[in-house]
Amino acid sequence: MATTELSLDEIYNLAYDCLTQNGADHENATALATTIMTAERDGSVSHGLFRLPSYVASLRSGKVNGKARPKATTATPALVKLHGDNGYAPMAHQVGIPLLIEAARNSGVGLLAISHVHHMAALWPEVEALAEADLVGLACTAYMPMVAPAGAKSALFGTNPIAFAWPRPGQNPVVYDMATASMAMGEVQVAAREGHDVPPGTGLDKNGEPTTDPAAIADGGVLLPFGGYKGSAIAMMVELLAAGLVGENFSFEAREGDNGDGGPPQGGQFILAMSPEIVAGPGWADHCDTFFARLTGLEGVRLPGERRHKNRLSDAPRAINTPLVEKIRSLMTQA
Ligand code: NDP
Repeated sequence: MATTELSLDEIYNLAYDCLTQNGADHENATALATTIMTAERDGSVSHGLFRLPSYVASLRSGKVNGKARPKATTATPALVKLHGDNGYAPMAHQVGIPLLIEAARNSGVGLLAISHVHHMAALWPEVEALAEADLVGLACTAYMPMVAPAGAKSALFGTNPIAFAWPRPGQNPVVYDMATASMAMGEVQVAAREGHDVPPGTGLDKNGEPTTDPAAIADGGVLLPFGGYKGSAIAMMVELLAAGLVGENFSFEAREGDNGDGGPPQGGQFILAMSPEIVAGPGWADHCDTFFARLTGLEGVRLPGERRHKNRLSDAPRAINTPLVEKIRSLMTQA
């Protein structure tokens, strides 16, 4: 695979310039370019520059508002409702996360219910922001049908990611962020691009037959939930929290309302914040450190989030797929 070395600043500038030249204003391009750059920095490559052509497609089609100004309403002291003004999710987070932090610090628990937003990024940035404020974060969002519920051969659930962050003052938070599909579709697309198989149980081809060929899954096939019927139940829960509770599209509704431009559909996001200082009381961090010491003391265990946090320590250039860099440059109107 041919790659091009880009520094983190170059990655940010490439994303920012491409977005502003395709309809995003400074605020929206800054929020999204930061999300893309931090994804590449941490090694979340399926949600970095790889997604930029799809972001651009939705700006160009007019489905997504590149000049979004999300509006928040404090429905109760613990509930912040945020209308995303049909922009990309990182812009909504810039407005909503500080309000959620305030709500959880005042009430012990806070819920940010985001509607009218388009989410195609990793979810760890929003829950890590909560953990950095010494709060526990839990977030999920639905997408478009790509995952067959346990027992079915056709898709109803999105890849429906769920992310959780636990604060550890003075240390990196413990963060997991995962699709409830056996594999995120972005990872399947990257596997197809790089020409390697995916594990058995990842998905079915367009005839409903099990396959390990990522191209056969991406081309008219379906993904399967992780963990059989148990993962299927969690994917269902994500639909209910991010759509039913928030009052936004279920995955099947998102597809029906989507213009098919290849970018993310309109949907919602559920983000819960909890204060261990208020719920457990002083001493919670030391108490939990004893648990983490036991956990990491077991041979073979590593904490989720550690890989990304290790990647983050390096400010060396990142190796980016060359055809992708060329494609992004070709999307620039003034390049
Ligand atoms: P992975 O399966 O790669 O990783 C899931 C989690 O498991 C990560 O937190 C990872 O931590 C952790 N982990 C991996 N290996 C180990 C291990 N050996 N021991 C302990 N923890 C481990 O993620 P997915 O492919 O499921 O999802 C990728 C991304 O796609 C996510 O960021 C998700 O938010 C995003 N996504 C976004 C969607 C959207 O609509 N916006 C839809 C679907 C997915 P670490 O990072 O440290 O490796």
